[in-house]
Amino acid sequence: EEDTLICAGCGADIQTADPAKTGYVPSSALKRNTIICQRCFRLKHYNEVQDIPLESKDFTNKLHELGKRDALIVKIVDVFDFEGSWIPGFQRYIGKNDVLLLVNKTDLLPKSVNKNKLKDWIKRTAKEHGLRAKEVLFISAEKNSGIKEAASLMDDLREGKDVYITGCTNVGKSTFINSLIQEFGGDDEQLITTSYFPGTTLDMIDLPLDDGSRLYDTPGIINNKQMAHYVTNKELKQLMPAKEIKPRIYQLNEKQTLLIAGLARIDFSQGSPNSFVAYFANDLLIHRTKQEKAGQIYREHAGEFLNPPGKESLKDMPAFVKHSFTVKKGKTDIVISGLGWITVIEPKAEIEVYAPKGVGVSLREAVI
Ligand code: GDP
Repeated sequence: EEDTLICAGCGADIQTADPAKTGYVPSSALKRNTIICQRCFRLKHYNEVQDIPLESKDFTNKLHELGKRDALIVKIVDVFDFEGSWIPGFQRYIGKNDVLLLVNKTDLLPKSVNKNKLKDWIKRTAKEHGLRAKEVLFISAEKNSGIKEAASLMDDLREGKDVYITGCTNVGKSTFINSLIQEFGGDDEQLITTSYFPGTTLDMIDLPLDDGSRLYDTPGIINNKQMAHYVTNKELKQLMPAKEIKPRIYQLNEKQTLLIAGLARIDFSQGSPNSFVAYFANDLLIHRTKQEKAGQIYREHAGEFLNPPGKESLKDMPAFVKHSFTVKKGKTDIVISGLGWITVIEPKAEIEVYAPKGVGVSLREAVI
């Protein structure tokens, strides 16, 4: 009997056996009229990030459907985790359809960020990933900024066609859809339009648009490049900025190192004295030390005072990989996807960044 129940939020088969798997509800919750799984419940009531152990292949198969339809594709990315927001082969999946790129979580950026420079970087990076966006718009789904603009852009670009909202998990797709629904009315009980799970059809929420076209949510793709996958939910809250980032400035000499809690290591190995401006969650520990001591300090204290990650998460975190950079121009950002960035102020610096394997580390012209 149990296997006939599906979650009203995400469509997953309801089960009471394994809290770590999709569709879990405590058996006491089975008595309710409308059953939603624990993940959707938490997302709805607490906006919590839940780990879902799924292979992205299940999702990407469904994404193939998109290319067969004539539609506007809305792709949401996290401005803080740009690398982690990409769906490999996305352009292939969606075929000839137009893309509107919504860059979310911009409330976390310092006010002084140059939005034009940031937009250029986003367009350039999108192109490198093989994605040609028709338009790029900055939004904050959580702070409800840019939602009206997004809606009106969607309406212009869709030319009477259906709209599909796509994105990796954690980029804020559910939050966006919810603010969209709130902005344009809709039954409050319908607000649980969260990420999507395998075993269900592609089309999930049916938000009718005025002309009879529809707005669809699509699978939330789990992207293993996200820092989010290597830490617990609690630790994720520590490393994700909760509010606007305040820069922290370090005057460094060569052979000095910054340890970003236990999550990354930045060695200034060669160059004249330089200023490093760190943009990470305000409460995230940054420990400054000598380069020659950094390895030992990390080995002895990662998971201890250098946390997140905590002791347990550290065991599962992929080993550090070294990324070497020659920073030629002054005012260059070193971006560690999902974590933040460091602006190197003076030109000519040799820098090595260590980050968990899979996490994107890249250079860009400073955006501040
Ligand atoms: P989904 O997996 O793509 O559906 O992402 P969610 O909507 O569940 O959001 C993931 C996390 O990002 C949650 O903790 C949200 O509170 C947070 N989030 C979503 N949108 C924003 C935003 O505009 N700004 C900030 N600061 N956080 C956001």
